[in-house]
Amino acid sequence: MADIITIGEILIEIMAKNLGQTFEQTGEFIGPYPSGAPAIFIDQAKKAGSSTAIVSKVGNDGFGRLNVARLLQDGVDVQYIGTVADKTTGVAFVTYKENGDRDFIFTIKDSAAACITREDITEAMFDDCKYFHIMGCSAFNEEMIASLKKGINIAREKQVQISFDPNVRKELMENETIKEFLLFALTSCDIFLPGEEELKAITGIENEQEAVEAVLSQQARCVVVKRGDRGCTVYEADSSFDVKPYRTEEIDPTGAGDCFAGTFISLMNQGRSVREAVKYANASGAYAVSRKGPMEGTATLAQLDQFIKERGEQA
Ligand code: ATP
Ligand code: MG
Repeated sequence: MADIITIGEILIEIMAKNLGQTFEQTGEFIGPYPSGAPAIFIDQAKKAGSSTAIVSKVGNDGFGRLNVARLLQDGVDVQYIGTVADKTTGVAFVTYKENGDRDFIFTIKDSAAACITREDITEAMFDDCKYFHIMGCSAFNEEMIASLKKGINIAREKQVQISFDPNVRKELMENETIKEFLLFALTSCDIFLPGEEELKAITGIENEQEAVEAVLSQQARCVVVKRGDRGCTVYEADSSFDVKPYRTEEIDPTGAGDCFAGTFISLMNQGRSVREAVKYANASGAYAVSRKGPMEGTATLAQLDQFIKERGEQA
């Protein structure tokens, strides 16, 4: 049985080789790289020292085998990953703009991951589980939303902590079904890990302090607002503190938030203090962006210790 469970898409990523490349023109791409935000999260949570499992689906193809082999190699429990015979593993294509933005093409909705159903979530999975991690990006169809809700309800019943990373584009929050689900997740979670813009969009409150207070007045006991290369801020009921970023060269921003969350929840699960968990999570996000490939930036605590030692004091 795993201490930390997540559910969601397993993907592979094909990335543009050159900055400024677009999908509208023929160009060179590299990959496949193991990807999928929940998969990156669960790989990182395992590397940071907790037992982990992911509920997902892949196709009977090389892309699926590549990803599952990576998770297995890193020690993630892969018993809840099903194989769908007549669907392919989901693919994310990504290009990078000069201003740092990214463009994505996802095949998730037509992929094996879209075959995840609520039947794939069972009460038994949550026996001895400590944290159930959910991500807004996984709410990509109605059955996934039903599956996530089922997981949340079982977790609440079994007093499993719920961590929630919205990880969702603003436009998706305008979809009523998704919005309703995100609000349900927001009011159900114990730990909330939004980006600055996500916090505003999801709560509908412009002022960060007020938005955080609204979240903390519900179930949540801890909110960490992620700010990319400006670090993050931790909020609890009656205290808050800023965490400065580590200096790093940003090679590939994809996966920073997932690694941050994986390390944070893994250390919380191991009974570390919020301060210590966020110190390593902050290093984990910075480490992730310094590596090319979404899951290539996952790291063990020993690797993060070394990274922290090399970077010295935070910027
Ligand atoms: P994702 O693109 O994976 O969804 P996110 O938007 O959820 O990312 P970010 O805020 O980009 O999350 O990154 C998470 C954390 O990683 C930041 O709060 C910070 O601690 C660290 N981090 C990210 N980018 C950098 C950077 N360029 N330099 C230093 N630290 C970084
Ligand atoms: Mg994110």
